[in-house]
Amino acid sequence: MGVAALAVTALAVLPPVDSAADVLVVRAAPTSYSPTLVLPPHDEREPVRTPKVVKKPAPKPKPRPRVVKRASRTRAIEADLGSGGYYCPVAGKRSFSDDFGDPRPGGRHHQGNDILSPRGTPIVAVTAGTIQTDYSANGGISLFLHGVDGNTYFYAHNSRNVVSSGQHVSAGQLIAYVGNTGDARGGPTHLHFERHPGGGAAVDPYAFLVRACR
Ligand SMILES: [Zn+2]
Repeated sequence: MGVAALAVTALAVLPPVDSAADVLVVRAAPTSYSPTLVLPPHDEREPVRTPKVVKKPAPKPKPRPRVVKRASRTRAIEADLGSGGYYCPVAGKRSFSDDFGDPRPGGRHHQGNDILSPRGTPIVAVTAGTIQTDYSANGGISLFLHGVDGNTYFYAHNSRNVVSSGQHVSAGQLIAYVGNTGDARGGPTHLHFERHPGGGAAVDPYAFLVRACR
C-alpha cells in the first residue's frame, strides 16, 4: 500500500465532520528510521529456573469406617409370642400374679398386673400400634400403646422408654426397659401393665398375660 493510499484510508475511517477546520489531514511522512536493536553483552546465562514441582503423594483412599454396632443394639430381643397372637410385654426373666384390684394408698385399687423382672429387661409391644409416652408421679416413666387391635395398653415404672409419641411400632418391638420409676421407686423393679379394651376402663389383664407369656 502506497503513502497516498494510506492517507486516503486514514481519512476514510474518520467520522464525518461539518467544519472544514476540523478536517484532519494525515500526512504520512516517509521515514528512513530503522532502529537497530543493540543488546548489551550478555554472556551470563540466566539460571534456568525449573520450578520445583513438589509432587504431593496422592492421598490414600481412606478405608470406609466400619459401622460397629453396639452389642446392645444388635442384641436380638427374644420376645415371646403367646398363643393368643400377642407378645409377652416383658422379654426376659419375669414373674407375675393376679394382683388386679389390690388396694393401693389413697383408696385406689391396682389397675393392672405387676410383672416382676430385673432392671433393664426389654419391654416390647404386645401388638402393633402407636405410642403415647407419659410421665406421672405414680407411673413414672410410662407409655400407652394404642394397639391396632383397638385396645390400649399401659406400661409403667420403666427405667426408660426407647420410643416416642406418635411412633408406630410393630408387634414385639422393643419400646422400653424395666425399672422402678414413679411410686415404685425404692421397691422391686417391675412392669406395671394395664389393658384397656377399646380404650375404656382397665380390666384384669391376668388371663391375657398368662396366654401371652406362657
Ligand atoms: Zn402395678
